[in-house]
Amino acid sequence: MRIIFLLFVFYVSPTYADTLIKSGCSKGYLGVKWFIYEDADGNQYVDQDPRSWECGFDRFLNLNVEKESGDRFNPAIVTVDYKDMLGRNEPWGMVHHSTTVGKAVRVGRDTVYIFGDGRTGDGIFTLGREEIQFRIEEEPVCEVDSRIDCEGYRQNSSQDLIYYGEDDDRVVTWELGVLVYATHYTHGDDLPVGIMGELDEEHPLWDKWQKRVEQYNSIYEESGVHIRYKLSKLWLAHYHNLYDVGTMTTGKPVDVVLGYGTSYVDTCGVARVQTHFREGKPPYSMSRCSVYTDLHEIGHSVGLAHGPENQLWQATGYIFPEFGHGWNDICNGKDDLMSYGREGVFHSNSKLYCDEIFRDWYPAILAGGREWSDTAHALNRVRYGVSLVHKENDYVDPDLRLRPIQSKARRIGIEVID
Ligand SMILES: [Zn+2]
Repeated sequence: MRIIFLLFVFYVSPTYADTLIKSGCSKGYLGVKWFIYEDADGNQYVDQDPRSWECGFDRFLNLNVEKESGDRFNPAIVTVDYKDMLGRNEPWGMVHHSTTVGKAVRVGRDTVYIFGDGRTGDGIFTLGREEIQFRIEEEPVCEVDSRIDCEGYRQNSSQDLIYYGEDDDRVVTWELGVLVYATHYTHGDDLPVGIMGELDEEHPLWDKWQKRVEQYNSIYEESGVHIRYKLSKLWLAHYHNLYDVGTMTTGKPVDVVLGYGTSYVDTCGVARVQTHFREGKPPYSMSRCSVYTDLHEIGHSVGLAHGPENQLWQATGYIFPEFGHGWNDICNGKDDLMSYGREGVFHSNSKLYCDEIFRDWYPAILAGGREWSDTAHALNRVRYGVSLVHKENDYVDPDLRLRPIQSKARRIGIEVID
């Protein structure tokens, strides 16, 4: 009998021809109203409404602030408590939400993260008819005083970098723009310097670059670098030097730029060192060898150096002179990829042991040290600043949308060859 009842509930719904014979509130189930219908052939069947207000159905929405303030990376947290009169979860959707500032993202059945969108101050999150207040603040920074940063290390950049503490392992996205080099050989002798076109996801090169970017990301992941590249733009372009690359990508909607396919004579790559990260000025470099070269040059472009004991072109970190540079023979034969060592396949990291990176046996050797080389930490320290070169999540005032963000002013700085 019970089985038949359930079948009726789920598979039969009344049509216009059917006649309602009787209805009433269920005695055993609060909120349930039952109906008895008769169809054109005189057959009777039962239907029910499990959310009948007249039979005692009710539901309650409560919003709670779990974390009152947030910023662009570290969200304010609101919990949604939406239950019926018997304490059962009620379904809800973000289509019924609004927020006066920030971007609200549902991350679970009853949790909403609200990230900053460049505007700060108090905000109101509304869901249905309920609303709750939160606050968006500036991101916290590591202050630099007399060239010593908040961690006690020397820092040769006046920029106070965004900082959430020594143990912060939040992964940050860097939007990568790649300039695929168009050769004179394939495109003719009178090829002008400039971007020739944007290659979209349908282009065969997109897939190739997507795979290459995945390789970058796994090298970073294994090295404990909390950055993941996202292939954002792929351009076909012609250029002769770093100046061309920098000029043609100023103000483009990416965080980092890599020119690929050519470099200076007898080099695998070349980079412009940036020690201060500004909106609309993506760090840039050129590379034409392996994925490790790509990451080596990108590393230079965000302030990493070869190291004081390198085979050639010795230098200490441009931002962090104590540890922001490569080193040779860290995990036995393995070298930091900023050095010229033959096995430059990872980023040194004082928080990891060699066997955690290479899944091989090592006699408890640390894969880096703050006194000599920790390029993973140097990258992690600049990761928020670089990710804000292009502020993809910031609120754009509709009235200002058509104005150019940055002028194409020439940039000066250090060039690093190879
Ligand atoms: Zn180099």
